Amino acid sequence: MRPHILDRAYIAETDEVELTIQCPSCGNEKKLKVNPDKLHSWFNGMLVQNAFPDMSSSDREALITGTCDECWEMIFGDARWSTDEIINREA
Ligand SMILES: [Zn+2]
Repeated sequence: MRPHILDRAYIAETDEVELTIQCPSCGNEKKLKVNPDKLHSWFNGMLVQNAFPDMSSSDREALITGTCDECWEMIFGDARWSTDEIINREA
């Protein structure tokens, strides 16, 4: 369902989940730490921008599709999708 998320590891000291995300275009892996309650909400259908309102667009993109910054630049140049387009794409 979300093949770009390779692994999830709970970090008790900081109460975070560390996700291992693999870019589907280049295969580079990236670690992303998120709040476990928010991650749970997102997995259960909450829109990513509601579950993670403070997350950068780059990290949201990694979470949703796994696409890394380098591949974004290569494919789309400076034309990042707006939040609205991400909402529509995820729905
Ligand atoms: Zn990439």
